[in-house]
Amino acid sequence: MDKFENKVWLSSPTMHEDELKYITEAYESNWMSTVGKNIDEVERLICEKVGCKYSVALSSGTSSLHLAVKLAGVKPGDYVFCSDMTFAATVNPVVYEGGIPIFIDTEYDTWNMDPIALEKAFLLYPEVKVVVLVHLYGTPCKIDEIKAICDKYNAIIIEDAAESLGATYKGVQTGTFGDYSAISFNGNKIITGSSGGMLLTNDKEAANKVRKWSTQSRENAPWYQHEELGYNYRMSNVIAGVVRGQLPYLEEHIAQKKAIYERYKKGLKDLPIQMNSYDKDNSEPNFWLSCMIINKEAMCKQVRSETEALYISEKGKSCPTEILEMLAKYNAEGRPIWKPMHMQPIYRMNPFITRNGNGRAKTNAYIEGSSIDIGMDIFDRGLCLPSDNKMTEEEQDKIIEIIKECFQ
Ligand SMILES: *Cc1c(COP(=O)(O)O)cnc(C)c1O
Repeated sequence: MDKFENKVWLSSPTMHEDELKYITEAYESNWMSTVGKNIDEVERLICEKVGCKYSVALSSGTSSLHLAVKLAGVKPGDYVFCSDMTFAATVNPVVYEGGIPIFIDTEYDTWNMDPIALEKAFLLYPEVKVVVLVHLYGTPCKIDEIKAICDKYNAIIIEDAAESLGATYKGVQTGTFGDYSAISFNGNKIITGSSGGMLLTNDKEAANKVRKWSTQSRENAPWYQHEELGYNYRMSNVIAGVVRGQLPYLEEHIAQKKAIYERYKKGLKDLPIQMNSYDKDNSEPNFWLSCMIINKEAMCKQVRSETEALYISEKGKSCPTEILEMLAKYNAEGRPIWKPMHMQPIYRMNPFITRNGNGRAKTNAYIEGSSIDIGMDIFDRGLCLPSDNKMTEEEQDKIIEIIKECFQ
């Protein structure tokens, strides 16, 4: 097989020309700042699509999560329960406010926060009042179970829907399950503004606070008057133009991503692997990234340090490191599973709660038969596959062949 002439990306921006129209409108009317028609339209359209009452367009998903943490009233020293297997931007905003993330282990059904571990965490820390959860790779988490536990303990939910725009749970869009929810328009997401994000809520007062905080917390006065700490977090009208042009294509992108997932599922069905799974009865992911996990018995030996990985090739077996190296050799971009937060050096001192106990495994290497936590296990055996919606069927067939070859 030859290398791909054009790199096959994990997930890259897909433009449709309308973006240029709205950017140009902003330029020609000179609304080049953080006020304008594109921002108003994008806020209106997202509320309409997602079904939330209020949305505030901000500079990123991370800034949206930060202001959500502020709204939730997290104070220095407060513990906050957080999804463990996620991108760091889910949990860093807790620390911006001085909070201390307590990581909750993952379950195998959706690769999201394990409700059993969450319940266990509330028994250990009944004072916790805020839970930050994510819908990883666009797959809705076990929302009903988690909501029931949060209601029981009177905890607020911050929902990180950065990867899951357009995904639904029991027919309801993600981004509506948190008291405060965040979405992202970063360049690799299902639709993009090149950057940008939004805070979503049904609480009018909360939305107004975020609007104010995000524009430097200016009071109504003839001069710059400040009673509260402010931020420069508002979305630009130019960025909003890109988002506005993308929005009509959200469903098309989801359909393309779903087709990619189904093709992988079919093409890889004879290998000792599983695709990332979801609750088929209750949820419809947006299939942002297709992922796979290798069966335990089909793992060759793989060892990872903090920054490097080695494996020993073995007939009939493979590992994420081998597959990722092979993909890279052919000019295709895969990626390891997002390394769980409890395994990150920056969070090594934070509590981590699993369904079986409060503890960390002593090694992050995959050792047959060792009982490691679920997040670590998915990180060891899983990987994200090239999931770009511009990938052709021929290109995807070749990627499937490359993966099959790893197991030869
Ligand atoms: C991308 C992402 C974010 C951050 O969004 P930005 O717009 O890049 O700041 C937060 N959480 C998750 C899960 C993400 O994937």
